[in-house]
Amino acid sequence: MNNNLSPFEQALGKILDKVGQMVPGENEYLKDGIPFCKKCNTAKAVVVDKAQGLVMHSLCKCERERRAEEKRRQAEDDRRKQVEFLRRNSMLGEFFLGCTFSGLTITKYNQSAVEMARKYCFHADEMLRNGYGIYIYGDCGAGKTTLAACIANRLTEQCHTVWFTSLIEIINSVKSTFDTGRPTSYYDKITQVDFLFLDDIGTEGMKKDDNSWIQSTVFDIINRRYNAKKPVIFTGNYSVESLSAKANFAQRTAQRISEMGTLSLYLGHINMRLISEETNKSEIKKILE
Ligand SMILES: [Zn+2]
Repeated sequence: MNNNLSPFEQALGKILDKVGQMVPGENEYLKDGIPFCKKCNTAKAVVVDKAQGLVMHSLCKCERERRAEEKRRQAEDDRRKQVEFLRRNSMLGEFFLGCTFSGLTITKYNQSAVEMARKYCFHADEMLRNGYGIYIYGDCGAGKTTLAACIANRLTEQCHTVWFTSLIEIINSVKSTFDTGRPTSYYDKITQVDFLFLDDIGTEGMKKDDNSWIQSTVFDIINRRYNAKKPVIFTGNYSVESLSAKANFAQRTAQRISEMGTLSLYLGHINMRLISEETNKSEIKKILE
């Protein structure tokens, strides 16, 4: 290489060449002094200065497609790894990690709730931006946690961060940090995660005393999400309106929950756990037959 050339000219020399001086590579042939790809028959250089016969090296069609495909695969691979990471960090149990909308048994009792939950996921970005959550309630075994798990899995598929937990779990975790120091990491997570799932609300065993540590901690958790304008997806046996009367929630906490722009979904009248048990039994029967 000519050492009198500036670095810019040297770099240019690698992409620029002269027509007539180009030597075809193994899978190339020359046409009008320009190399062409034997596979796709497109040029591997373009003329940039006709007068001086200057050409610039370029990619042929099949090479361009190969690189685009490689890039697409890499992006898909990165996304898949990210989703897997988000799934593992969602704290959903192994069983619930397998819950999907397409795997749900639709009945006339859950149909509208499932439909709304699907729509919620479809508009997840908007829901997140507005801090809109969902409050799923209904009888024991109605499939509330399963539906919440379907939502959680769909949201991680969309690359949102999810934390599937319960007030009891957070309270116990906060308690366990009493001796070791401040429970900041839990509080940070409460405000930072995109979608916080609080399963089984109303089972905290709270007493009527509004000033107890547990009452103020529960309020604090809910209030942190409220102030951060981030959504919470609740599941519970009681409606928001009866949280105070039936689960001894402080009025201010129940008030905050209803103020959070929460969509209330009712799953009722049928025991989904029984249905799935029956389904499992018939599956087993089929296998054993
Ligand atoms: Zn080619």
